[in-house]
Formats: sequence, C-alpha cells, structure tokens
Amino acid sequence: MDLKQYVTTVENWPKEGISFKDITTIMDNGTAYKYATDQIVSYAKELGAEIVVGPEARGFIIGCPVAYALEIGFAPVRKPGKLPREVISADYGLEYGKDTLTMHNDAIKPGQKVLICDDLLATGGTVEATVRLVEQLGGQVVGCAFLIELTELNGRAKLGDLDIKTLIQY
Ligand code: AMP
Repeated sequence: MDLKQYVTTVENWPKEGISFKDITTIMDNGTAYKYATDQIVSYAKELGAEIVVGPEARGFIIGCPVAYALEIGFAPVRKPGKLPREVISADYGLEYGKDTLTMHNDAIKPGQKVLICDDLLATGGTVEATVRLVEQLGGQVVGCAFLIELTELNGRAKLGDLDIKTLIQY
C-alpha cells in the first residue's frame, strides 16, 4: 500500500514556512491505519520489544495500537504537569528556547526492551529526549518507529546508532 497518498500536506501551518504533515487522513481510513500499524507491529516483533513508549499526543496514536496488538504495555511521555505521580524529566532544545518531557519514574523496568513510537521524525529532538528518559530508568531502546521522516532535517544524526524505521519519507 502506498501510505503517502493518505498524508495531507498543509502548507504554512501552524506558521509561515512550515509544511505540516497531517496524519489524521491516515487515521480516519481504517485500512491505511491498520496497514501502518501492522508494519510497526512486525518491526516491534523482530526487535523483541517488551514495552512501547510514545510522546504526546501523536505518539499515543501510533504507539497504543502497536502495544495492543502485541499484548505489551504502553508508557506515555508527557509535557510537565500532566502525569500525576513522581516523574523524571528531560529538556530538549527548540528553535527558540527549550521544552521538557516527563515520564513516571516507574514506567520502565530496568533492562526492559523499549520501542519508541511517534508520528514524525523531524529534527529528532523529541525522540532524543525520550531516549534519555527511557535510559535514565534503565530501559534499553531497541528501536524507534515513525510514520513519517523529513529526511532533510537529518533527525537520524541525533539518534546515533539507534535502529530507526520510518514508513514514509519526504
Ligand atoms: P522533532 O523533535 O523536531 O523531531 O519534531 C517531532 C515532533 O514535532 C513530532 O512529534 C511531530 O508531531 C511534530 N512535527 C515536527 N515537524 C512536523 C511537520 N512538518 N508536520 C507535522 N508534525 C511535525
């Protein structure tokens, strides 16, 4: 299946110069959403992933059905102030300033094999901070899966030797 035909590109949104990749037109098509999920499920099986981790909010949309299919857990990564119990935090740089991601401090068991899922790999900042959170808890990131990769931004460079799978490239 050519998944790319289900992505809607919205130019100059949310601001001038951004070419936004809207994945809701994959999600609202049951066949396309299942196809995309199945690709990532196969990848997760090959890696022997034991838990899925995804950053809010679109990482939940990609990661949760994968966890469900494999009957493994899902651990959310969220912006500060959203998780109710004790968290660990990781900062990451934005074009202007910085942002922070958090995770419950018992979300990953030491040695657990983790697959990180998100909708899109751009600069890699979000996933790099997510990797740091997982590793801080003693988890082993065995792979990262994305629906879309914006290759010009070279997010892979931030992720070193990590195994990365992307289904659609621009
Ligand atoms: P980054 O940290 O730069 O890799 O950015 C990744 C996050 O920002 C992803 O979780 C995406 O949801 C979002 N994002 C960045 N660029 C785009 C884009 N062009 N279209 C849609 N989402 C984007």
